Amino acid sequence: MIEQIVFDLDDTLLDTYRQLVPKATRDACLAMIKEGLATDLETALKACAEREMKKPRHDLFTSLVSRFGIREGADPLKVAGAGSQAFYNRKVETDIQLFPGTRELLGELREKGYPLHLVTQGHRPTQEEKIRILGLEPYFDSIHHVDPKQGERKRDAFSRVMARTKLTPMSYLSVGNRIDTDIAEAKELGWQTCWLRYGEYKHMTPTLPLERPDYTIENLKELPQKCQL
Ligand SMILES: [Mg+2]
Repeated sequence: MIEQIVFDLDDTLLDTYRQLVPKATRDACLAMIKEGLATDLETALKACAEREMKKPRHDLFTSLVSRFGIREGADPLKVAGAGSQAFYNRKVETDIQLFPGTRELLGELREKGYPLHLVTQGHRPTQEEKIRILGLEPYFDSIHHVDPKQGERKRDAFSRVMARTKLTPMSYLSVGNRIDTDIAEAKELGWQTCWLRYGEYKHMTPTLPLERPDYTIENLKELPQKCQL
């Protein structure tokens, strides 16, 4: 039986894919071109869109460098780094919004007695700013940050949730849009998992047994019924 629910933030509660990714991608391409990527903005953006269908973003910036090359005198590492920097370390727009109905859903789950936790991955100040703008803090019993650049993994945060609440692994449900982190790393601990198939990772198909979610939904609103909450 599910007793505790752990949510991811980007593309699970917040529509990052539509609200933040297009502008961040454009800024990243511009920064790379400025640093020496040998192409123009339109071509670079097209390459990003094509790639997304096949492979999500990790090492997008290095792959752009290999695909287009760099102008004479430029440093390939610096070009890729400029893209990553422009993409991840950004000021969060103040008009970001949760998926419609999310606030109500979180409220209902709390009313039903489920403690909720938030585990979010990314550049910490950016993630904190999103949480602040969205006013998410009151809904969650605990909030955990995971910065992959510091070698941190979601699994560590999931373990911290379990250490605090001390239930059997099957009592936890991880809800998120990435099968490699939100699903596989939760399943490593024996948790139940629900894959929200949305955003740039929705084309990924589970290859490892650990990446196979217990439940799959395409809209967060389906969660209570699907997982019998
Ligand atoms: Mg996410």
